[in-house]
Amino acid sequence: MISIREILKDAQDRKYIVGYFEAWDYGSLNATVRAAEEMKSAIIIGFGGRSFETPVGWDEVKLASFASVGKIMAQNSSVPTAFILNEVEDLGIIKKGIKLGFNSVMFDGSSLSLEENIKLTRKVVKEAAKIGIDVEGQVGRIPSTGERIEKNFLTSPEEAAYFVEKTGVSALAISVGNIHMATDEESSIDLGLLEEINRLTSVPLVMHGGTGFPDTLVKEVINRGVCKFNVGTILKEVFLREVKKTLEKIDLSKADFQELLGSNNQADVFRKGYFAVKEVVKEKLKLYSSPMI
Ligand SMILES: [Zn+2]
Repeated sequence: MISIREILKDAQDRKYIVGYFEAWDYGSLNATVRAAEEMKSAIIIGFGGRSFETPVGWDEVKLASFASVGKIMAQNSSVPTAFILNEVEDLGIIKKGIKLGFNSVMFDGSSLSLEENIKLTRKVVKEAAKIGIDVEGQVGRIPSTGERIEKNFLTSPEEAAYFVEKTGVSALAISVGNIHMATDEESSIDLGLLEEINRLTSVPLVMHGGTGFPDTLVKEVINRGVCKFNVGTILKEVFLREVKKTLEKIDLSKADFQELLGSNNQADVFRKGYFAVKEVVKEKLKLYSSPMI
């Protein structure tokens, strides 16, 4: 498994973006790795912290299981593959993730005050450094689609520089007009602000909200220090569209259920969904100018 630090260093030097594609199960994780292998591109695989949250607390057995699956998959991939536990706000859970097999974690303290965010992120960095794991932090709030964007959500370049210096994070997620879970291109990116953040910090910058990010601006942000894109929503969208389309054609009263699910052959409904996921990951990798290894 390659570290996020190494993978992003190469992206920074050679000016391209490494995609992080957020999976939700074995099939989606597998589709992501296969896409990267077909493209011969470096990749970041992983899960969002939210997938381990339940109405009655954290599902730690699921976290441990998924951590093992991802680690094995990253280790067996034929391309440089890092494995991240994304967007965790809970210190206890992120510490568990560090020990369970992820080789990078993202602590999201953006809802806290800057000083509190620094304090907790530093704790995570210290804990992670003990076993050589990298940490992504965040300054500024990334809104979700439909949310009203306030001016004070945006990352302040001075605060970003101060945060990086105080915490020692390996990568920094920023808010420059990018939006979480947007499915159409509704983001309006402040390139001037991004340029200023890049001027004042030296770490690779991370763009969350890759689904709704305008294709035409990808080159522009590569030139302004962005080395990692986070992509999630579009994978779920294409998966569900494909499964729906496939099921609509099937008469379930006459169906062979063993063939339709878990058979891994042509009739497998989920297999078609995962194939769609793989194709969209490949398109994104092309867009991100990920070079062949
Ligand atoms: Zn995100």
